[in-house]
Amino acid sequence: MQKIVYLDNGATTPLCAEAKAAMERVMSDVYGNPSGNYSLGFAAKKILNDSRAEIASALNCYESEIIFTSGGTESDDLAVIGGALASGARGRHIVTTGIEHHAVLNSCRFLETLGYKVTYVMPGPDGAVSADSVKEAVRPDTVLVSVMQANNETGVLQPVEEIGEFARANNILFHTDAVCTFGKLPLDMSRLKADFLSVSAHKIGGPKGTGFLYVRRGAALQPTVYGGGQERGLRSGTENTVGIAGLGAAVRRKRDNMEIFGEKTLRLRARLQKRILEEIPDTHVNGSLTNRVPGTLNIRFDGIVGTSLLILLDGKGICASAGAACNNASQKPSHVLTAMGLTEKESASSIRFSLNELNTEEEIDYTVEVLKESVEYLRKMRAL
Ligand SMILES: *Cc1c(COP(=O)(O)O)cnc(C)c1O
Repeated sequence: MQKIVYLDNGATTPLCAEAKAAMERVMSDVYGNPSGNYSLGFAAKKILNDSRAEIASALNCYESEIIFTSGGTESDDLAVIGGALASGARGRHIVTTGIEHHAVLNSCRFLETLGYKVTYVMPGPDGAVSADSVKEAVRPDTVLVSVMQANNETGVLQPVEEIGEFARANNILFHTDAVCTFGKLPLDMSRLKADFLSVSAHKIGGPKGTGFLYVRRGAALQPTVYGGGQERGLRSGTENTVGIAGLGAAVRRKRDNMEIFGEKTLRLRARLQKRILEEIPDTHVNGSLTNRVPGTLNIRFDGIVGTSLLILLDGKGICASAGAACNNASQKPSHVLTAMGLTEKESASSIRFSLNELNTEEEIDYTVEVLKESVEYLRKMRAL
């Protein structure tokens, strides 16, 4: 079988050995219901407590502020819809950005059908929204602001510290989607003034279908799933003990190695970027060169169609993506790149590489060689 060069870690990551081991143990031995009043139940409850403690220490927050969910999407939905609904008569206006993940954007669309008004702040050409434009969009009836910490397509960091300070000072709930940053950059909830923060396990070496929402003590939140009252009544349903065990192990691994993993990823991304820009003519990085998470590289190749390039790369075992993978095969131009001012054509000629600590220099060099051939081939075909 052809070797796989996996450069789509923004879509998902392989399960790390630590998460797999933790999950296997729970899967075979700890089958109790965490609500059960016997040792097997207590053992299951301990799995939840241990993972919660791991996450709370990574975020410098209280354990009771961590609500386990089925992943990034559910966490975003719960924060946006639950935060808006909990604000009741205080107002029905929300501020978000045009570059959010669809979990946030489509939750806002749903709220619009209930009569809420939503302002979508657009980024500059560098892919970042300005804190001032978010502040200017706020009205007296604004109840919630939702701005992601880093964008998943470009990796560009957003000014969430400043936005959080402003929201807190104005008594407005602030949600941030930290799926692209948690485990990669140090986060401290005593400094980041967010009421809600979303994380997904499968973007950091944990299992798919698991994640959490940080809910600040005292923040108003209406549940969106009703039932037996698990997770302080904010997310009912018997907890996914296996997934949560995997999440806890993945968090520990990321936290203990954050600097080493970050440096390695950054070095590999720099190598990929430098070689592409130097060795393939008419190529451009989309978004800020400096203000980015370590692993993401969104590149535009003039005169080619990104999806055609992806097919050629796949033929050589290389996985990358056009726009966000989560857009299940939609051929629409990326809403993120068009919001940054790229034309539809420029957006369609862009692809995203997302690296992590498991990638190697050999993989990067192999990818550059394949890219050189493939881009040249596609440009020749187009000229014919
Ligand atoms: C992947 C992703 C999500 C969705 O997380 P799932 O666990 O796949 O539902 C949300 N936001 C961002 C920024 C993401 O990259």
